[in-house]
Amino acid sequence: MRAAAVAPPRMPGATSRSAPLEDLQASAFEIPTDRPEADGTLDWKSTTLVVVEIKGGGQVGLGYSYTSSAVLRLLRGALASAVSGYDAMDPPAAWLAMSAAIRNIGRDGLAATAISALDCAIWDLKAKLLGVPLALLFGRMRGKVPIYGSGGFTSYSDDELRLQLAGWVERDGCRWVKMKIGTDAERDPHRVQAAKSAIGDGTLFVDANGAYGIKQALALAARFQDIADVRWFEEPVSSDDLAGLAFLRGRAPEAMEVAAGEYGYDTDYFRRMLAAESVDVLQADVTRCTGYTGFLQVSALCEAHHIDLSAHCAPALHLPVACAALRLRHQEWFHDHVRIEHMLFDGAPRARNGMIEPDMGRPGHGLDFKRQDAERFRVS
Ligand SMILES: [Mg+2]
Repeated sequence: MRAAAVAPPRMPGATSRSAPLEDLQASAFEIPTDRPEADGTLDWKSTTLVVVEIKGGGQVGLGYSYTSSAVLRLLRGALASAVSGYDAMDPPAAWLAMSAAIRNIGRDGLAATAISALDCAIWDLKAKLLGVPLALLFGRMRGKVPIYGSGGFTSYSDDELRLQLAGWVERDGCRWVKMKIGTDAERDPHRVQAAKSAIGDGTLFVDANGAYGIKQALALAARFQDIADVRWFEEPVSSDDLAGLAFLRGRAPEAMEVAAGEYGYDTDYFRRMLAAESVDVLQADVTRCTGYTGFLQVSALCEAHHIDLSAHCAPALHLPVACAALRLRHQEWFHDHVRIEHMLFDGAPRARNGMIEPDMGRPGHGLDFKRQDAERFRVS
């Protein structure tokens, strides 16, 4: 917990208080996957989406997180109170007030995902009040963002794996695709080979979600390079094992990058991971790392450490800040979230030539929630 997480007074030093935040609405939806999904350390049959809307100045800001419906009580209670009355034009002040409000329960995990959804909603609201796309409000480093196809779940048959990965290369123009490994280490080389055979000139990434031991991961890294020229090994060991990641980063084949960071909830987490030289590319997730405000802090840390940043999951929500982040390498085009975002959010980006780009004709992040379509998934 940051020592400086002290809530500033309402509207500190503000000269105009035109859009006080009010009337927070939060709801949760449980959306079944199209097929059972699994990675090296978890399996699931549904994904929970928590949607937050907040009003100010006659407009409504929208944010969301893929988290648990358990955060609804926190959003409707402590966090709604914390931001009430803050000016929608000052998202960082509201962010600091939220950080202070949850001090005694801890910011990691559920609280961070709740703050993430609300922070994104407040930034969306500010951009709407100004009538500008959020990418323009942040200021763009790039107009389009490269994506890599991601899925290849360990619950898939070889045919399902090949078909999905080939689709991202052939249909969406992705240069890179990522598959899950780690459920059955004996079978992983065979699955990796099968995947590589389906993607032609595409580059293969693998994600073990922390399933392997250090020596096991080291042996498999060499094997994966031999059989499929794998260039990205994500969470070969637990992302909490910073020394283990650093060891593998130093010993893995030179062309194979080690990546982690998706479970980062605050800047100290990312600082520790970078300070330990654990990754070649850092990952961060705007639905977990306290929203756009937190993601921009991670971006600054990456710049200071000369390490590239990759946006994890929730591609539609990441897009505006991915345009702005200094060392952004690419965004994850995650099967389950792409499907949900296209189903439930009008304005969700479409892949073209391996890239996505914000619609600069729409204010805010450009996403409108299709509440009626979502109603059948509502849990609370
Ligand atoms: Mg991952």
